[in-house]
Amino acid sequence: MTSTTTAAGNRDVLATVDPRLFIGGEWTGSSDGSRYDVVDPATGETLCTVADADPADAQAAVTAAVAAQSSWGRTPARQRSEILRRAYEAILADTERLATIMTLEMGKPLAEARGEVHYAAEFFRWFAEEAVRLDGSFGHTPDGGSRALVLAQPVGPCLLVTPWNFPLAMGTRKIGPALAAGCTAVLKPAPQTPLSSLALAGILQEAGLPDGVLSVVPTSRAGAVVEPLLTGGKVRKLSFTGSTAVGRLLLQQAGPAVVRTSMELGGNSPFIVLADADVDRAVDGAMTAKMRNMGEACTAANRFFVHESVAEEFVATLAARMDALVVGNGLDPSSQVGPLIDRLSLTKLGSLVEDAVARGARVVVGGTAPAGPGYFYRPTVLADVAPDSRICSTEIFGPIAAVQTFTDVDDALHRANDTEWGLVGYVFTQDVDRAFAVSEALEVGMVGLNVGAVSNPATPFGGIKQSGLGREGGRHGIEEFLEHKLIVMPQQR
Ligand code: NAP
Repeated sequence: MTSTTTAAGNRDVLATVDPRLFIGGEWTGSSDGSRYDVVDPATGETLCTVADADPADAQAAVTAAVAAQSSWGRTPARQRSEILRRAYEAILADTERLATIMTLEMGKPLAEARGEVHYAAEFFRWFAEEAVRLDGSFGHTPDGGSRALVLAQPVGPCLLVTPWNFPLAMGTRKIGPALAAGCTAVLKPAPQTPLSSLALAGILQEAGLPDGVLSVVPTSRAGAVVEPLLTGGKVRKLSFTGSTAVGRLLLQQAGPAVVRTSMELGGNSPFIVLADADVDRAVDGAMTAKMRNMGEACTAANRFFVHESVAEEFVATLAARMDALVVGNGLDPSSQVGPLIDRLSLTKLGSLVEDAVARGARVVVGGTAPAGPGYFYRPTVLADVAPDSRICSTEIFGPIAAVQTFTDVDDALHRANDTEWGLVGYVFTQDVDRAFAVSEALEVGMVGLNVGAVSNPATPFGGIKQSGLGREGGRHGIEEFLEHKLIVMPQQR
């Protein structure tokens, strides 16, 4: 592991983030005065404390969003677009500060954090461009009796709930389209990573976002804060990214007030290497699909299905690449693998490996956690994993590649689809016909064909089955925040 002593100097950036709630354009403490600790997962130490929103604070944020909705919805699209564009430029100019904040609160290596800052900013650029292209339509009904005008209008005040694994990008992927569509919003970030969202609020305020259009309410009491907002009748849209378990609960809570929902949920991604694949290319793809964000990504390859004829070469090459990765504090420029988010994750990985080994898996590399401090786990490759191992039906969310083999493509596909999740799948083959056949047969919302990453702000991201509802990014992303209103007029014949 690399040293953790580089952390001290970088902590200066924490002083640049207002640790209070951002409600209706004002920075304020929690109404019941509470605060909670933000912890550095690389050291286990407290970084700072932030205001802890209670239900009254969250309600105040929704009240501010409702009050701002009408004027923001009528603000010319060009003006909304230019605010997003200014924020895009400000984020890029602020890359080092934002990346350092992200690494401190979440743990990912600085190089990856810089990458996320750019990825996050791109959602603002993309949706700044989409804001001015919100088309309606005009036409005649087939019987010739009516004229029909269809207007695209904002859904209304939105609640945005985000996870900790991409602290900045999961926010901008929702805030960008919401604001572009003319919706106001309240963002509840994950409690582990509030600082990136608070820094973003500061940037949007500087970019000229009117008061109340976006509020940010970190809280350690998500359940108590969110449910009343969903049932209260003021929030018209919930956009959630997080686990399938929480997504199911929020869908129930959104039911009574018929709140529109978008759900970006968990995954259990298959990574299929066919007999004719270029193995080096497949390993490159595996390193990205598995190790981006230390494996803490919804898109992370969870189950590797490798044709028997190339399995030995694939496993040996992957194991060598995994073993060579430098594990350490993400602030250290030499680190390639940062800590997991918390001790619970560490315990979970240990027990998944133990279960897989008990069912016959072989630890080719890794399989242990280095001594602390911090929540590190060594990059791990497991071979001969039995399909009934818990690791095959659990979202691993860590740096473990669990490899199974197959001889028949239909069997591999059957196993790949044998899950309630359907976010993304990866396919490696040099045969065009097979590439399309397997991609078409995979029950997923996205396919990486000979590539280990699929996310791009300009393309639709999302899952099927219990991985979600709706899409983020691309031209589809803004649709989630729009209603289509029909105006009918009689037509004289
Ligand atoms: P999580 O536990 O579901 O939490 C996500 C967010 O929901 C957090 O802000 C969390 O706050 C909040 N939350 C939890 N319980 C809640 C409740 N009862 N009421 C209201 N809000 C509640 O997920 P996570 O551990 O942060 O993130 C990892 C998961 O996100 C993985 O399953 C991953 O696949 C998924 N993810 C999906 C995508 C995608 O685009 N499909 C992208 C990234 C991550 P608290 O922590 O305070 O409860």
